[in-house]
Amino acid sequence: RRNSTGSLAGGAAKDNAGVPGRVRVAVRLRPRNAEELVEDADFADCVELQPELKRLKLRKNNWDSDTYEFDEVLTEFASQKRVYEVVAKPVVESVLDGYNGTIMAYGQTGTGKTYTLGRLGEEDTAARGIMVRAMEDILADVSLETDSVSVSYLQLYMETIQDLLDPANDNIPIVEDPKTGDVSVPGATLVEIRDQHSFVELLRLGEAHRFAANTKLNTESSRSHAILMVHVKRSVKARDSAFSSENGNSPHMKTLKPSLVRKGKLVVVDLAGSERIDKSGSEGHTLEEAKSINLSLSALGKCINALAENSAHVPVRDSKLTRLLKDSFGGTARTSLVITIGPSPRHRGETASTIMFGQRAMKVENMLKLKEEFDYKSLARRLDIQLDKLIAEHER
Ligand code: ADP
Ligand code: MG
Repeated sequence: RRNSTGSLAGGAAKDNAGVPGRVRVAVRLRPRNAEELVEDADFADCVELQPELKRLKLRKNNWDSDTYEFDEVLTEFASQKRVYEVVAKPVVESVLDGYNGTIMAYGQTGTGKTYTLGRLGEEDTAARGIMVRAMEDILADVSLETDSVSVSYLQLYMETIQDLLDPANDNIPIVEDPKTGDVSVPGATLVEIRDQHSFVELLRLGEAHRFAANTKLNTESSRSHAILMVHVKRSVKARDSAFSSENGNSPHMKTLKPSLVRKGKLVVVDLAGSERIDKSGSEGHTLEEAKSINLSLSALGKCINALAENSAHVPVRDSKLTRLLKDSFGGTARTSLVITIGPSPRHRGETASTIMFGQRAMKVENMLKLKEEFDYKSLARRLDIQLDKLIAEHER
C-alpha cells in the first residue's frame, strides 16, 4: 500500500517503534526496624549507599567491600514520592502512550516490596505506594468519555493463577494470541475504574481475598506473586495517530473511519520473597511448594540472564510467571525493577544474592512496540446506528 506521496503507508508507525531501552534497575534500602536497631546496634549495616554516584557498596568484611552501580540508589531516607518518580513514572507515562510497561519488586521477605508497591497510604497520603500513585497519574491523564481504564488483580501461587477479585475463580489459564504473540488472561475479572476511591477499594478487597486464600492454603503471602494489570485504552485523534496519513481526507471517510485506539498495559508485580526456601520442609514448607516457588523465580532469573546475554532463546515457557510477563518483559516493553534490601548484617547473604539479580537485570535491552489498532467494533456500532436512522427516516 502506498499513499499519495509514494512512501510506504505505515512508515510513521515505524518511527515510533523500536525505541530501545534497557530494564531500569533501582535498589532501595529499608531502614533498620526496631529489632535491628537494638540487636544489631554494635554492627554496621551490610551495605553503604552512595546515591549521588548511584553506587552501592556491599561489605565483605571490616576492611573490604564490593561496589555495584545501579540506575538509581534509594537510601532509607528516600520518600515514597521519590521512589515513584524514579521507578514508576517513566513506565506509567509510556503506558499512557500505548506501550506495555512492567514494574517489579524483587527481594527477600521483609525488605519492603509491598511497602514500595502496594501501600494504600490512607492514614498518611505521603506513604502511598506505586500502585496507588500510578492510578492517580493514569486517571489524571485519560479522558473517561473516550478512554477506558480497567484492572485485574491476580495471585500466582504454585503455578496456579487465582483471581484476587473473585476467590471462586482460582485456576485461570493464560492465553496467547497465535498471531501477535500477546499474552492475556481473559478468564480474570476485569473491573473498569472510573475514580481513585474505587481503585483503592479494589486493592483492599484483593488484599483481603489474598489473605483469606493463603490462610485456607496454609501459606504466607510472601510465597506467592501478586500481579496487578492495568489496561489503558485510549482513542487517538487522527492528527496524533501514527497512521494519520493513510486515510486521506475524503469527506465520507471522516464519518465512517473507525476510531483508532491505543492500548497500553501496565503490569505491577510484587514478587514472592527471594530467600532460598528450605527444601526439607522443616520450616513448614512442603517440598512441592519449595520447588514451585523456586521454579517461577528461577525461571524469571533465567529469562533475565538470557535477555542480558542477547541469547536467541529466552525460556519464557518455563513458568507461569515468565509466560505472563512474556509481552511485558523483554522484547516489547518498558520495564523497571526495584530490588529491595535490608541493612542487617545477618542477612548479608540474601542481600548479596538480591544485588546480583539486580546487576544481571541491568543488562537487559527492551524494544518498545507501539500498540495501535483500528476499533472496528465501535465502527460497526456506529454503522448500525446510522442504518437504524436511515430505516427510521425511510419508514416515516
Ligand atoms: P516485603 O513485602 O518485602 O515482605 P514489607 O513491604 O511487608 O516487605 O515490609 C516489611 C516491614 O518493613 C513492614 O512493616 C514495612 O512497613 C517496613 N518497611 C519496608 N520498607 C520500608 C521503608 N522504606 N520505610 C519504612 N518502613 C519500611
Ligand atoms: Mg510483601
